[in-house]
Amino acid sequence: MPIEKTVVGSFPKSNRPLKDAISEVVDLQLFYGIDLITDGEQRSNMIQYFEQIPGLEKLGNGLRIVGRIESMEQNKIDEFYKIQDYNRVKSILKSRGKENVKSKITITGPMTLAIACATTDIESTQKHYDLGDEETLYSDFSFALLPIVEQALNIGAYVQIDEPILSTGKVPLESARKILRDFASRLPPFSIGEEKISCHVCGSIKSVPGLFDVLLESAIPILSLGFSGEEEKENLDVISKVSLEKHSKKLGVGFISNVEVEDEIAIMDRYKKIEENAGRENIRYVHPDCGFGITPLEKTRLILERMKTVADRII
Ligand SMILES: [Zn+2]
Repeated sequence: MPIEKTVVGSFPKSNRPLKDAISEVVDLQLFYGIDLITDGEQRSNMIQYFEQIPGLEKLGNGLRIVGRIESMEQNKIDEFYKIQDYNRVKSILKSRGKENVKSKITITGPMTLAIACATTDIESTQKHYDLGDEETLYSDFSFALLPIVEQALNIGAYVQIDEPILSTGKVPLESARKILRDFASRLPPFSIGEEKISCHVCGSIKSVPGLFDVLLESAIPILSLGFSGEEEKENLDVISKVSLEKHSKKLGVGFISNVEVEDEIAIMDRYKKIEENAGRENIRYVHPDCGFGITPLEKTRLILERMKTVADRII
């Protein structure tokens, strides 16, 4: 399969009404030749998108736990914000005559979402969960997210599970292994066979010894990692052609900064090093290290332009 261009998910928030904001983000990605696009996360932040999950309630910029975490009723999953926004993206693509452009839904992973929600209001969390038993919490979030992921895949979306918490070392590796394995084992087999699902972990994988192995051991076929930032560049030491092939994994590689407009030569040099370690045939996507949520729009454009210029020489 050829290497394709994608983005991690978020774009700077537009002040315009949601449907116009999504339109702008779609057009921006089409303009810069992104092959697998997103809705730009224009509606909310990576935590509050999940407020429709039973057991959660908005508090400040986050969500707190106010009951046992459960999955949404099956007949309400189409109303889940990310599903609605995906459908909006598809209809915009259709109106542009670009219905063949692929689109993905980003889902905050069970461990990242659990920790963010549990720590928003610890007292409230303790009324419903034993804090000494994190795995139950992660596992409830897994079960709540799975029907959403399944529905996303069934309507043709690609899915990216975001687990930035893993590179902080806050989740014991044994728990991470179990949760990722259980989560992946419940995914529809076609999503693995057709490489429709990926897992994005920002930051340095190297800083948590053993984490890369845990990611390799899960059934998720594509791992998306950054290589451009000060911490992320350590990830170069962790990846290898042998380990990727042994576990039939492909990489999404953050070969360009998501916050700085970099020099073309620096980006190309970095890409070559990644390719040397991973093997070209094991690279599925090139993308910026992370989302553009905190990057100003003008800079985002310049980064996308630079990304296109360099990627066109690679692909
Ligand atoms: Zn990220």
